[in-house]
Amino acid sequence: MKSILITGCNRGLGLGLIKCLVKDTNSPKIIIATCRNKNKAQELTSIAETNKNVHILELDVTKTDSFECFAGEVSKIVDENGLNVLFNNAGYSPKSTRISAVKAEQMMETYAVNTVGPLMLTKALLPLLKKAADANQDQPLGSSRCAVINMTSMLGSMSMNDVGGLYPYRCSKAAINMATKSLSIDLKSDGILATCVHPGWVKTDMGGSNAPMDVETSVTGMVRLVKDLSEVHNGQFYQWDGKKLEW
Ligand code: NDP
Repeated sequence: MKSILITGCNRGLGLGLIKCLVKDTNSPKIIIATCRNKNKAQELTSIAETNKNVHILELDVTKTDSFECFAGEVSKIVDENGLNVLFNNAGYSPKSTRISAVKAEQMMETYAVNTVGPLMLTKALLPLLKKAADANQDQPLGSSRCAVINMTSMLGSMSMNDVGGLYPYRCSKAAINMATKSLSIDLKSDGILATCVHPGWVKTDMGGSNAPMDVETSVTGMVRLVKDLSEVHNGQFYQWDGKKLEW
């Protein structure tokens, strides 16, 4: 994988993925880390200062009108090689969403970040993804050619839902799962793989302090999975350690 773009790298799993990639012995030549506000992303900025392959771009994944301009900025960085991997990581989960409390605005807001943003960003970056897939035709389907990875959650799985609630989050992740499935069919002939990854229940602001797994364990597993992606992963649902999950 020569280039990768990850959204939501200010903290949590996004920041963890960047830290893991920069210390990888085979670190990508270009790592584009997005955050909403560079001025508030001190840790990410200091990583970029000491790792010249890290480029920081600002992006709010709900501002779909900005995506064309954003794709232009990405294009200037990746140049004629295109973008090998798009990792849609940025995510949001509102609190208090049992049936008695859930609000229409929470549903819309969560969809905007977790479903609409990743899909529209994939669409906006498609020319750059296709460029990478074309430039690496000798490579098999996977991250050395071109891949879109959507961060999902086991909370978006129908078969694993046995406690209910969490309407906005569960529905938004189930929807991105379906979008990923369609992408895997629509983009396969272009040489682009699409898959969903559940990071595990991880200690971040979203996962909370009771989560059993630390960020490093989760991101180390996910980076390995990204590198190992092949045709069998296309249109499927995996967890951080490569185990296949049921929808
Ligand atoms: P955090 O809450 O720790 O971090 C969320 C990240 O997403 C932040 O960088 C945040 O930016 C960014 N973000 C939120 N809204 C937007 C937006 N509108 N535009 C751009 N960026 C945005 O969450 P995690 O790191 O834990 O989660 C990362 C992904 O993993 C999410 O998709 C989440 O659903 C998924 N996940 C996490 C699990 C866990 O246990 N932690 C379990 C299952 C899935 P900012 O700092 O500016 O707010």
